[in-house]
Amino acid sequence: MGLFANLKKPLAAYLDKSQIDKIYQAFLFAEDAHSQQKRSSGEPYITHPVAVAMILAEMHLDSETIMAALMHDVMEDTHIEKNVIGEKFGDKVADLVDGVSKLTQIHFENKAEAQAENFRKMVLAMAKDIRVVLVKLADRLHNIRTLAALSPEKKRRIAHETMEIYVPLANRLGMHNFCMELENLCFEATHPHRFVVLKKAVKTAIGNRKAVISTITKALHKRFTDVGLGSALIVGREKHLFSIYHKMQKKNLLFNQIMDVYGFRIIVDDLDECYRALGIVHNLYRPDNDRFKDYIAIPKANGYQSLHTTLFGPYGVPIEIQIRTKQMHDTAEKGIAAHWLYKKNDERIGFTTDQRTQAWLESLLELQQAAATSMEFIENVKSDLFPDEVYVFTPKGTIMELPQGSTVVDFAYAVHTDVGNSCVAAKIDRRYVPLSTVLSNGQTIEIITAPNSTPKSVWLDFVKTAKAKNKVKQFIKRIKQSESVHLGKHLLDNALHSLSTALKNIAAEDIQRVLQDSQMQTKDELFEAIGTGYLIPVLVAQRLVDKSAEQKIIHGNKPVIIKGAEGLLMHFADCCHPIPGDSIIGYFEGHKGITVHVNDCKTMSFADEPDRYITLQWSNELTSLFKAAINCEVYDRIGVLTDITQIFATLKVDVTDVKVLDSGSGSRILRFVIKVHDRNHLAKIILQIRKSPHVVRVSRKRY
Ligand code: MN
Repeated sequence: MGLFANLKKPLAAYLDKSQIDKIYQAFLFAEDAHSQQKRSSGEPYITHPVAVAMILAEMHLDSETIMAALMHDVMEDTHIEKNVIGEKFGDKVADLVDGVSKLTQIHFENKAEAQAENFRKMVLAMAKDIRVVLVKLADRLHNIRTLAALSPEKKRRIAHETMEIYVPLANRLGMHNFCMELENLCFEATHPHRFVVLKKAVKTAIGNRKAVISTITKALHKRFTDVGLGSALIVGREKHLFSIYHKMQKKNLLFNQIMDVYGFRIIVDDLDECYRALGIVHNLYRPDNDRFKDYIAIPKANGYQSLHTTLFGPYGVPIEIQIRTKQMHDTAEKGIAAHWLYKKNDERIGFTTDQRTQAWLESLLELQQAAATSMEFIENVKSDLFPDEVYVFTPKGTIMELPQGSTVVDFAYAVHTDVGNSCVAAKIDRRYVPLSTVLSNGQTIEIITAPNSTPKSVWLDFVKTAKAKNKVKQFIKRIKQSESVHLGKHLLDNALHSLSTALKNIAAEDIQRVLQDSQMQTKDELFEAIGTGYLIPVLVAQRLVDKSAEQKIIHGNKPVIIKGAEGLLMHFADCCHPIPGDSIIGYFEGHKGITVHVNDCKTMSFADEPDRYITLQWSNELTSLFKAAINCEVYDRIGVLTDITQIFATLKVDVTDVKVLDSGSGSRILRFVIKVHDRNHLAKIILQIRKSPHVVRVSRKRY
């Protein structure tokens, strides 16, 4: 109980008893879940989530966030399911815990600097609720505070990740206090010796500076009181260790050069007083003209506002002064968390998370608009904080950025055009998935390619990126072209045969004449037009043989032989599903090529446009499988479908579609589309299905 009593103190300052009771339940739940665990330091594990909750309680975050903080490690460490938390504490809390767990699972392994930016974006993309990021930041802060028990190597790794990811994230959210503490702790973890030396030096310097600081503070105070602004808060400001170290490194400054600058902060009641205060200090000490910045008129991107000025103080020492209101001060230190401040009698209670976050964004927007900067700013902030992209990993750990809704195929094309063109399968997080699977943040995608594989036109139905779309289209166009030339030549030759001649017997000038009539340049163009169905082969054949002659064409005289693998220009009709053994006929469907139907298919109207039809015949060398539809009338019982699909499985028959139809007489009709070699094959399958006790009758569906 001692642990919770500590947490209760800050909570009682801004939450109701009923909310604190719920938080207590979450505490008990987490304590129980972690009861078998210890931290590296040997303390009971529960001390960690309580400390994280404490950090957030001091920031006055709402009760859901505190509950999520208490339970943030239970899913990861004790395998408690999300729905268990949902049932006990509500979906919102469960979502938060789940969000934090997901962030915990992704690791920053690739050390490339450029990756860090994408990784930060991924963190934000994964955390749809900004409170998830706040819990994660608090989690990281407490872990960094308690690094002592870890090995130096682990310390360095965590510190590095924190500097790359979490410090910029906190900075983006304007949480300066968080940044500062994280930076100092990371500095200590990565450079323990420099940290100690610098700390000592700063301590000595501060001792030496006391007299000067006190002189300046007194002078400022007197002047402010004289002009009636005695309520202004004037404090001497010390730079934090990391920023001193950073300045020495980056700006090549000596320690003394940095410490010789005296920093002060003046906090006043309102905006007008900020500018009055500025006048007062400029009047007291001479300002350095080049070093004045008005971040009130033009705030920083994270909402930071202050007036910055540098003065030449007594003995010529440089004085850096920041002037701001209390509210600006709050925002400067806590950023988004200041906007999130949850107060007991808050009129904004009932505000949803999104509304609060939106309010924060809008406040940034207002600030920027006041400064007359463009919409670009808010777009940047928004896409930074709530990106429209998904971020996924390659197997090597590189992060790829893709538009929201992208699929496995988009990813493959983003990796390389060749990878896209030859991809056949994919794994997400080591499990096989269909190529149309939509990607989610944080997944690792592995593409499996096959050397002779090619893009499929069905991909166009689901790919999202322009690159993938264009590449697939380009490929199909190229294939279609060569296929249609080939098919067109074949069809024309066939039509000429029915006129008792052949393409090789046609004189060049006859071909030239037809090309001219059709306004074409090459033979291939003519073949392509036939192959794609723009020209009817028998008509072209007639014109080639004799432009005036009225030759009688006999359909089916010499049928075109098909193998069923003619490519994109030969389709098998879905109405009658022709298979080898059936008498078949082809129909020219314009640019779609030829559709193959069974001879007596009811959808055909041969008499209307005889020229559009062509007699076809199956080749003797068939290797493909063909779709056939069968209707199984079955008794309406549980397990029927499983039973029949089991028969298909045993016979190694591929089922491509199944529909359940009502027969209208108590039984049901299951309609399967399966892949078969020919009519014999189909007959054998039907025979097996008939043996099932569930089946009333089976028949092939023809129309
Ligand atoms: Mn944790």
